[in-house]
This record gives sequence, C-alpha cells and structure tokens, in this order.
Amino acid sequence: MSIGLTVGADGWVSAARALPSPNFEARPDGAAPTLIVIHNISLPPGEFGGSAIADLFLNRLDCDAHPYYDAHLRGLRVSSHFVIRRDGVLEQFVSCNERAWHAGLSNFFGRERCNDFSIGVELEGSDDTAFEVPQYETLAALVKALVARYPIDALVGHSDIAPGRKTDPGPHFDWQRFAQDAALPARYFPYRHG
Ligand SMILES: [Zn+2]
Repeated sequence: MSIGLTVGADGWVSAARALPSPNFEARPDGAAPTLIVIHNISLPPGEFGGSAIADLFLNRLDCDAHPYYDAHLRGLRVSSHFVIRRDGVLEQFVSCNERAWHAGLSNFFGRERCNDFSIGVELEGSDDTAFEVPQYETLAALVKALVARYPIDALVGHSDIAPGRKTDPGPHFDWQRFAQDAALPARYFPYRHG
C-alpha cells in the first residue's frame, strides 16, 4: 500500500489525527528542522493500544494508574511531533515548525540539544518486538512528506544521539527496509554502515 501525505506550511499533516500538546516552544531563531529522530514507546512498557502515550504528551496521564507511571513519568513534560500506532494510524502532537521535547540530552556529531533542529517520530513499540507493516508504510509516507517540506539531511535513532542513555528504536527496527520504503539514499543515514 502506498500512502500520500503532505505537511502544510503550518507544520501539520492534515491526514494525521491532531492532538495538540502544550509541550513545545519555538525553535531557536525559527530555524527549519534538518534531522528526523526515530523512537519507540509503549505505555505501560511492552503493552500496546490504549491512550497512555497520547495522555502523557497531553499532560493528562493518570500516574496513579500504573507503578511504572508513578516511578518514572510523574511531573514529566514531554512530547513528540508524531506517534505511529501499531495499526499505522498517524497522530500529531506538535507542529513540525515548533520544538518538541522528545530527544532530551543528545548529541548529533557534536551538535547538542537535538530537539532544537529535529522532528521526533515515535513508533508504538518496544526494543523486543517487531514493528508492524502498516507502521513502516506510514513512516515512509511521513518521511517523504517531511523531506519534501524541510531541508532534512539525516535520519537517526534516539540511541544514536543519546548512546548509553537510550536504546530506542531498538534492534527490531529495520533501517534497510525503511530506507528503501522511503526511497532515501545512504547519505541520509550517517550512523548506518553497510
Ligand atoms: Zn526515544
């Protein structure tokens, strides 16, 4: 299946389910994003479905509902531009023109504060589960649309820019397949070799 997506001048993908998060700020100097960061997330960890990821990004997660939330997520203010659910449904929380809070402490070949110049895409998943075909399809369509709109020159995993602290998107994310699906040459993938 081939999906066509477009990013508007306002930084929103019209075909995405819009769930505007208050967790964002302006990019420094209004600079356009040049980096895409791929993540995985599931809440509770390893469980799919439900609304907990969106609730977290919308500051409405009930942290009494699960011990993991209580221990790790209370008071956290985070967001990502996009979440791709297990069935391929695309959710958007922050305009791509704004700075979302997904990467944390990070370093891209000497450039810190990767949130300043990146777009965050969360795949609903975990480090020990294969991702679903519809997720790859939506991701490829999304990345094509982002590359068409912004001067993107690199795609990385969260673990590439926060090594030792982050492990996502994990060993099950198939970079080769993704590069093929998105029709992007190897120069877009500075951390992938061979
Ligand atoms: Zn991450």
